[in-house]
Amino acid sequence: MAIERTLSIIKPDATKRNLTGKIIAKFEDAGLRVVAQKRIQLTKAQAGQFYEVHKERPFYDELCEFMASGPVVVQVLEGEGAIAKNREVMGATNPADAAPGTVRAEFAQSVGENSVHGSDAPETAAQEISFFFSGLEIVG
Ligand code: UDP
Ligand code: MG
Repeated sequence: MAIERTLSIIKPDATKRNLTGKIIAKFEDAGLRVVAQKRIQLTKAQAGQFYEVHKERPFYDELCEFMASGPVVVQVLEGEGAIAKNREVMGATNPADAAPGTVRAEFAQSVGENSVHGSDAPETAAQEISFFFSGLEIVG
């Protein structure tokens, strides 16, 4: 499998509870490498732009409010099959369905406040990485 890069976000529910390090440790333990990272505060408009794909969904407004409710840590993760591997470490969207040991099983508070975001395909990974990072900020 090829070396890939994927966009990860540690969401406000997790930064609030000081879980950043515990979540990053799960990524690193799975063989993913943090090759870019910053802690930022999104506006609701920026969150809306990032999640534009979901704008017709009933949870969109609440999701944008939540993503702007506190700091987030955005990261580029790199590794063999990084996109699928990160999704595996994250666990299912709804923590009630997330496999034991995954980030969401251990830390998520609800289907909305579920601690992490991860890109779902090569095209979205490239697009989401460029939403937050310039090439100069990514050091592999
Ligand atoms: N979400 C929500 N309610 C839902 C489904 C999703 O609040 O019924 C939120 C949740 O924070 C999720 C995000 O919207 O992580 C994006 O949804 P998606 O289906 O892309 O899930 P993900 O890719 O994050 O697992
Ligand atoms: Mg998604």
